[in-house]
Amino acid sequence: KKRRTILNAEDMERVITRMAYEIIETHRGVKDVALAGIMTRGDFLAHRLQEKILKIEGVKVPVGAMDINLYRDDWTQISHYPVVRASKISFSVDNQNIILVDDVLFTGRTIRAAMDAIMDFGRPARIELAVLVDRGHRELPLQADYKGTTLATLHSDMVNVCLSEHDGKDTVFIEQE
Ligand code: 5GP
Ligand code: MG
Repeated sequence: KKRRTILNAEDMERVITRMAYEIIETHRGVKDVALAGIMTRGDFLAHRLQEKILKIEGVKVPVGAMDINLYRDDWTQISHYPVVRASKISFSVDNQNIILVDDVLFTGRTIRAAMDAIMDFGRPARIELAVLVDRGHRELPLQADYKGTTLATLHSDMVNVCLSEHDGKDTVFIEQE
């Protein structure tokens, strides 16, 4: 197997900082902005964005978490379908700008499920999407508003996202057969 590093720890830090600035710029501050991380790694990323935004803007935006798992937890399967297991959204989504946060955007099916789940909670003003890696191969008409990096991948490639909170270090690498 061939391994190629896409982001090292410093790269990741810069990318998350930029995304935080983009969110603040887009919303002219973060009034009425809330983050919803897709567990597991999207949740950690949402908290990192929350921390960055707090540092830059002095405001602590609400963060929720959504547990959405792919059926049999296998994204390499064609036409996998995500199942929403649980959501921890302890703030009102009504009239809020909800930013979904995930580590990797692939077919878009997980985010579609997340949008459905968010809309079960109320009526957000807008739903946006932030992802660390867009690896292409969308199966739905959906895109990210904030993205760390765009990667041209083969369908069979594996993108590995490691976050210190969960994996002991910060790195993104791609593995090819
Ligand atoms: P989608 O639903 O867009 O096909 O896949 C997105 C979800 O599956 C994300 O929650 C992401 O964590 C996971 N995923 C999809 N492809 C990859 C990948 O190449 N690497 C990693 N680490 N996760 C992926
Ligand atoms: Mg995931």
